[in-house]
Amino acid sequence: MEWCGIQVRLVSNITDIDDKIIDRANRENRPWNEITHKCEAVWFDAMNALDVMRPTDVPHATEYVEQMVEMIGELMSSDSAYATDDGVYLDISSVPDYGLLAHQNLEDMLSGGGDREVLGAAQKRHPADFALWKFSKPGEPSWPSPWGEGRPGWHSECVVMSLQLLGEGFDLHCGGADLRFPHHENERAQAVALGKTFAQHWMHNGFVVDTEGEKMSKSLGNVTNLVDLVQHYDPRAYRMLLLQTHYRSPVKVGQDNIDSSVKSLANLDGFADRMAKAALPEKSADTEVLAKFRELMDNDIDTPNAMAIIFDTVRRANIAIESGDTELCAALATAVHEMCNALGLMLRSGDDIDAAIVDRAQQLDAARVAKDFATADAIRIELQAAGYVVETTKAGTRVRLA
Ligand SMILES: [Zn+2]
Repeated sequence: MEWCGIQVRLVSNITDIDDKIIDRANRENRPWNEITHKCEAVWFDAMNALDVMRPTDVPHATEYVEQMVEMIGELMSSDSAYATDDGVYLDISSVPDYGLLAHQNLEDMLSGGGDREVLGAAQKRHPADFALWKFSKPGEPSWPSPWGEGRPGWHSECVVMSLQLLGEGFDLHCGGADLRFPHHENERAQAVALGKTFAQHWMHNGFVVDTEGEKMSKSLGNVTNLVDLVQHYDPRAYRMLLLQTHYRSPVKVGQDNIDSSVKSLANLDGFADRMAKAALPEKSADTEVLAKFRELMDNDIDTPNAMAIIFDTVRRANIAIESGDTELCAALATAVHEMCNALGLMLRSGDDIDAAIVDRAQQLDAARVAKDFATADAIRIELQAAGYVVETTKAGTRVRLA
């Protein structure tokens, strides 16, 4: 979107209080906020590794509890909400078009189930009424409210933070396909009950699954989650794999397509390296290629075909340089870089060495200065085993890819 010239303010909230966090804190006998801080740090480390830009705002649910209590108060005073023994609930009969987002009627949604919260508390007026506020049990984290000590319901957290930070009628609300119902439906229901316009558009992404279409398990050796994945493979290869799948489709992750992404990425890096060394004339990006790319991205973010355009442009640039047409080659190469940048896929030419490798080379130098030659040799062998040429001169150690 930013590549298209749209100014983007992205809000991505952190749910730092909910039933699962409290359960885990009790089970592991740890403070709940220690768990949420740790998880948040792990999450952003993985996002950094994937070159995912930081959202403009990262609000935490616990910073907005006062505003949530205020919103629930408004719903209570307009009779859209009611209190029971275990919390405060939204009366969905006060929302005339409830179910609009899920495109299903209520009976289907309820029989489809999936979410325990849909059914539950015996005193609810309607089975689909959902908790805005949950009274706390002894020892649980809690905040004051006019109805009793407790914590906000998950659906209330999101609607308050999005309306507060982005305002009414904000452009786009995203999330996993599993959140369409009940979570997003219920966020929207609260806004409707408040008489406020909520998101204008919704986009729901598919799940990451293994090659059998099941939830990720053991299909990638010991890799079962994102943290493992970005440690075992070039994170850019995973980014490429995501780009080669349409966002609404399930993302199949298996050894075969990870391997083929690693290979495709090496081809793109190799191309960037060749172009950097080819001393091409300065040319702006080929307009025809960019127009095609834009058309695909404008069509519901068709990244698989956009990736295909990138590979095709690489192929054409290679042909152009072989036939001596450096002008055309330069325009195509610039287009490849621009398209890759738009997709957040950062290509590396040979001179860009991984920061961790550069660190090791510096440690090698430090060991030599300290006359710890055993350590220096060990680091040299380790770097060579990782595929680097290690050149030690008076100026220090330089590594480059073999
Ligand atoms: Zn949400």
